[in-house]
Amino acid sequence: MTVSGTAPAAAGAEALERYEPVIGIEVHCRLRTASKMFCACSADFDGAAPNSHVCPVCLGLPGALPVINRRAVELVLATGLAIEASVPPATRWDRKNYFYPDLPKGYQISQYDLPLASDGRLTVETPAGPFTIRIRRAHLEEDTARLIHATRQDGRSVSLVDYNRSGAPLMEIVTEPDLRTAEQARRYAEELQLLLRTIGASDADMERGQLRVEANVSLRPHGEEAFGTRVEIKNMNSFRSVERAIGTEIERQAAALDAGEAIVQQTRGWDETRGATYVMRVKESSDDYRYFPEPDLPPLHVDATWLDGIRAGLTELPAARRQRYRDALGLSSYDAAVIVADPDATGLFETTLAAAGGLEPRTVSTWVAGEYLGLRNRSGTPIAVDPADLAHLVRQVADGAISRANGREILALHVATGESAAGLIAARGLRQISDAGAVGAAADDVLAANPQAVADFRAGKQQAVGFLVGQVMKATRGQANAAIARAALLERLETGV
Ligand code: ADP
Ligand code: MG
Ligand code: ZN
Repeated sequence: MTVSGTAPAAAGAEALERYEPVIGIEVHCRLRTASKMFCACSADFDGAAPNSHVCPVCLGLPGALPVINRRAVELVLATGLAIEASVPPATRWDRKNYFYPDLPKGYQISQYDLPLASDGRLTVETPAGPFTIRIRRAHLEEDTARLIHATRQDGRSVSLVDYNRSGAPLMEIVTEPDLRTAEQARRYAEELQLLLRTIGASDADMERGQLRVEANVSLRPHGEEAFGTRVEIKNMNSFRSVERAIGTEIERQAAALDAGEAIVQQTRGWDETRGATYVMRVKESSDDYRYFPEPDLPPLHVDATWLDGIRAGLTELPAARRQRYRDALGLSSYDAAVIVADPDATGLFETTLAAAGGLEPRTVSTWVAGEYLGLRNRSGTPIAVDPADLAHLVRQVADGAISRANGREILALHVATGESAAGLIAARGLRQISDAGAVGAAADDVLAANPQAVADFRAGKQQAVGFLVGQVMKATRGQANAAIARAALLERLETGV
């Protein structure tokens, strides 16, 4: 194992001046099914004792015959529809042959030249605008067993095999080499995860190996059409490492090309702690796999009625939801993107809106995208917000009954204690003071106590007002209506009272 390259903080801005990166992404995702791909074993084996979810089929015992899991096929078809791919009327299975202990049969049942979905696309929105990635294919295959390399008590190294994962349904989704930056690759993977979760195809948790992202990276001089030699990167187990690993690989290849070296086609692994990639193996070609049609499974026919039923069952996709939020509900692009990217935020937004009859969606969305997600991300764990309480709070602030700052505080208390927003507002006496008389009295006190700020203002320093407003807010424990406080102060300062 040779480690080379150190991690650049930012993905080689300098290298990008000379070379254009070309990136294609292959994603393997575990499908959300009750049983495995070709047998009746439960697919719910995460955390189970090793080799407790096995049978002759997924152990590859001689004579055992596979039976297709219909649900897994439906989830790939649903994905195909969601990425606007074409689905062939008939498809078949192929054997991909290789010899390794994680594959008990000596071959993996996969799909070679007739994938269940081909020629799709996915549009990803970014603050800099949307980009669309063509998806070459999505196909169905079976997962392999898990190898665990350990050291025995006597010091000897052993490799252990857990067949629980063997034969679990796996979907592979392959893009065209359309991506150009490490950030785009990360955003594509995030959008794909959101899509897969939205349609219920996969839990797509990267840390649990349910979504495995592999990146193919090559460089070419700007203006050159031909692609350079590519390197495949594996073992990235977070979105952050996808971006870092690709950035690092771009740097490594640029340095090699600058030095006049040829890029060797190979598979490299990402070492998160070292921030570098290392050679895993020199890339095999598809010839090495001796693909041939699987004789134990009949061809699969996808009739129009079946496909129509799956299409009818699709929920609103993220892109359509973002567009509806913007166009029909008037949300900012930012709020729409942030809310749709997070299923909890989406749920809270929808239920609060339903509970808030008459409130502007835009007003609710700023609370969900700003305050709710802020609290949730700071807590690091899911938090409970009652939609009726959030609706009440948003209304109180919108009506000017309490200040926004205090509304924020009440939301945090509601999350921490589970108490109702109305109860918390009453208990803490946090009604916003909008009464001109009461705010005016506070303004008088503040002006009397801050002669220097008053003199500054009269000498032309407009910003002294901001300081004085802050003093009024402080004196009223944040309860004064800030706009009324400002008006009261200006009135007094300008009339010289
Ligand atoms: P394999 O199946 O052997 O890994 P493919 O030709 O199917 O190879 O390509 C796998 C992935 O690599 C695809 O996402 C494809 O877009 C991407 N790819 C192909 N050629 C290049 C290249 N020169 N540079 C970057 N990515 C590439
Ligand atoms: Mg590949
Ligand atoms: Zn089994």
